[in-house]
Amino acid sequence: MRKRIVAGNWKMHKTVDEATALVNDLKSRVKDVSHVEIVVCPAFTALSAVADAIQGSNIRLAAQNMHWENEGAYTGEVSPVMLKDLGCTYVILGHSERRAYFGETDEIVNKKVKAALAGGLLPIICVGETLEVREEGKTEEVVTRQTKGALDGIDAAQAEGIVIAYEPVWAIGTGRTASAEEANRVIRIIRSVVAEIFDPKIAHEMRIQYGGSVKPNNAGELFSQSDIDGALVGGASLSASDFAAIVKA
Ligand code: PEP
Repeated sequence: MRKRIVAGNWKMHKTVDEATALVNDLKSRVKDVSHVEIVVCPAFTALSAVADAIQGSNIRLAAQNMHWENEGAYTGEVSPVMLKDLGCTYVILGHSERRAYFGETDEIVNKKVKAALAGGLLPIICVGETLEVREEGKTEEVVTRQTKGALDGIDAAQAEGIVIAYEPVWAIGTGRTASAEEANRVIRIIRSVVAEIFDPKIAHEMRIQYGGSVKPNNAGELFSQSDIDGALVGGASLSASDFAAIVKA
């Protein structure tokens, strides 16, 4: 049985004080939840403070991005070793905003996935099609390419714990959600690609989230689908009450 995972991507929001207040509020709202893995993904600047705040709680820490090298002359970048040092369990890789605004390709995402695993971090790998791709009928082709690209060269022994987030780009921050059935359909395709890359057992065990305008009022329907193992939540994760409601859905 796959344990559901709900992660809140705070993006470029929240100062250190605001992030601490948000996670403290969330902590008290979800303290009794044990059947769902809860993850928060603050900006780099707030990781340390949030790590302190969640010590001993049921909330885990993730970063939103990282470089693939452990150290070096890469001004402005943050390495897997640094994230591990701060207490991160997960790192989001290949988010569509990184692909669109910072030129991240499947090859770059793959380097980061390898570096994360080598550094003891579990990647949350984002895949998903743009509206244009969807309208051209190429959703399956694109998510297959992204999934294969991200997992290229990863062996079965390393696959445990990897999370994939299916995030149709047209549903992110727009208030438009893929219907629960459609999200489930694409996630099943992604799972079959994972089976092809590794084996059916690994595919069966891998958690695949949906992301894209998940809110308290649509989370329950999404989570009732056979293959949706939780959510990557943007906007609604900035409210402790909304995020807690999604976790509990
Ligand atoms: C995201 O950025 O990963 C996301 C899903 O955002 P939102 O929930 O705001 O659509």
